[in-house]
Amino acid sequence: MSMNLFLNRLLLALLLLAGLMQAMPAQARRKKTPEAALAPRLQAYYDRLDASRPSRSLRRAPLIGLSTASQSGSLTTPGSCGKAVIMAGGIPLPIAATDDPALIEAIVGRLDGLLLTGGEDVAPSYYGHEPHPQLGGVNDRRDDFELALFHKALERGIPIFGVCRGMQLINVAMGGTLVQDIPSERPSDIKHRNSPDLHDIDIMPHTRSAQVMGQARLRVNSSHHQCVRDVAPALKVTAYSPDGIPEMLEGYPRLRIMAAQYHPEVMAAEQNDSVMLRFFQFLVEESRR
Ligand code: MN
Repeated sequence: MSMNLFLNRLLLALLLLAGLMQAMPAQARRKKTPEAALAPRLQAYYDRLDASRPSRSLRRAPLIGLSTASQSGSLTTPGSCGKAVIMAGGIPLPIAATDDPALIEAIVGRLDGLLLTGGEDVAPSYYGHEPHPQLGGVNDRRDDFELALFHKALERGIPIFGVCRGMQLINVAMGGTLVQDIPSERPSDIKHRNSPDLHDIDIMPHTRSAQVMGQARLRVNSSHHQCVRDVAPALKVTAYSPDGIPEMLEGYPRLRIMAAQYHPEVMAAEQNDSVMLRFFQFLVEESRR
């Protein structure tokens, strides 16, 4: 066969093949191989993945570590804390306790902010006092872990916020002391412990707390029987209830610390209180920087 003839036949064969492909319905062609049959389903899968991919701003949302309690083998953290962080635009991450300093450093290295949640009484040994008869349940392992977490976070300079026990722990961590039982040590008409009633707090003017909350007076919930006694150096009490109980504190002069003795997370997350949400919005905004 001459070269010319061969090329002619080849061309003819290619044309025939092309014609055949054209004539076949698209569906039939795709079914030729198992891979081709899978293709539409794979495409739908990738489309779904694309649709659920977080936006650029969500991928950059600050990661806020939440302290946890370990009760009967389960790791627990107040759900309203997680919800309030989400509502404020952050990503909440509950952290399991550990006593490994290298691991604590690694954990803090991944966080943009830290929220110390409510829970047990801080053991008085951490501030050099004897236990009061009305001292509630303590958890040494949690105290040790959260104090270590606090100091690493302080060292790294990420924002540290606390609610209830978290406010007390911050004060102890920086050298302050606590009233171990308000009803017996600071009796008053205001019921701070497990009260269904709200009470007032007055926020001191010209403080970051007043600026963030945007109000001089707030009605807050109350579920504590301990409070700050001697405030640590480098912290400042920025709000009091009418009977003189410290209800907010912040770093002073310049630390990225803020804490509430009440539960802004419950009011923000469960009662849609936009003023209380500001506490978490400030945490998330500070954690972006
Ligand atoms: Mn109170």
